[in-house]
Amino acid sequence: MHATPQANRPHITIFGRRNTGKSSLINVISGQDIALVSATAGTTTDPVYKSMEILPLGPCVLIDTAGIDDDGTLGSLRVKKTREVLDKTDLALLLFDPFQPISSFEMDLIKDFKQREIPFIGIINKIDIGEVNKASLEKKLNLSLHSVSCTTGQGIKELIELIVQQTPSDYQKDTIVGDLLSPGDLCLLVTPIDKAAPRGRLILPQVQTIRDILDHHSMTMVVREAELSQALTSLAQTPRIVICDSQVFKEVASQVSESIPLTSFSILFARYKGDLPGMVNDLKAVERLQPGDRVLIAEACTHHRQDDDIATVKIPHLLQKKIGGDLDLNWCRGSSYPDNLDTFKLIIHCGACMLNRRQMMNRIKMAHETGIPIINYGLFLAYVNGILDRSIQPLMPKSLPEV
Ligand code: SF4
Repeated sequence: MHATPQANRPHITIFGRRNTGKSSLINVISGQDIALVSATAGTTTDPVYKSMEILPLGPCVLIDTAGIDDDGTLGSLRVKKTREVLDKTDLALLLFDPFQPISSFEMDLIKDFKQREIPFIGIINKIDIGEVNKASLEKKLNLSLHSVSCTTGQGIKELIELIVQQTPSDYQKDTIVGDLLSPGDLCLLVTPIDKAAPRGRLILPQVQTIRDILDHHSMTMVVREAELSQALTSLAQTPRIVICDSQVFKEVASQVSESIPLTSFSILFARYKGDLPGMVNDLKAVERLQPGDRVLIAEACTHHRQDDDIATVKIPHLLQKKIGGDLDLNWCRGSSYPDNLDTFKLIIHCGACMLNRRQMMNRIKMAHETGIPIINYGLFLAYVNGILDRSIQPLMPKSLPEV
């Protein structure tokens, strides 16, 4: 893995109707001639993602919404795709061709940006082609616009400065675990290498946690659960914290002294990507579940599933055992997320390492707006194993909510 993962980069989305010059704008901003596989007009609405470096902003993802424009025949599909891309957008660029009339497409997007509190920049392209009455356009849109020509490069340097200024600095949290550590601290990580583990590598939440520990001048040791006891007795330094895979929580908790803080990768990610106190509070919903209730298990990637898969086997088994009956279980994977959230009684989400923070926060917001509780794998497993308080204590020590 050579590059910053997409989920850790700010997502900058370019909106504009056909022929406003979206692809040219991507090329001039990135300083590269990027051959984007543009959608064929009218047949697909899939946005195109490109990881790149915008200096001095650094690594980011540019999203070209080539197929999402004002073609009415796309109807609800367009609305769905637009919503999906808005859910993950940290900064929007809305491109205008000053020689085309303004349509409801642009006006609706401006309304969406405002409603969702997405910072955005309105841009007039093609100023090299003819005289543009910028003031009149700004008045109609009630918006100040930045003028560029993607052909001559006029205004591009200033636009990049604006992008750097307006990209929110809090598009992700600074640290996964580093705020709990001092230089020289030792973190002991416990990760099972079972059938579900990818061949030849660790999974992204583990890799990112290790990098975060190193960034904070702390030390780490990684062991499998079978070697945990040996590791604990052989260490000259008491670990500052033990972080385990949620699937081995019970086993690890029984071996690690109560005096050593313990949590899981998934619980760290509940805080890093989402809203840890809110999810802890929502755990109450587990107690209210009744046989037959609809439950959604959401996983943000599409990895190959094994026989004892956590989402399809382990969590369903523990949950149905707890409530004493069968549930109506449903799954969603990757970037798909159902519209009918109000039909569920509970959402159990994975750690969401593949989503950017805005997208995960939007999933939580959508759930809460429809009154549906949302928790994550790690919190659920800590809860059913009776070690919830211990596992969240390192991350929210002051105000443990009553669950
Ligand atoms: S997206 Fe979710 S299921 Fe996939 S690796 Fe990340 S945390 Fe695990």
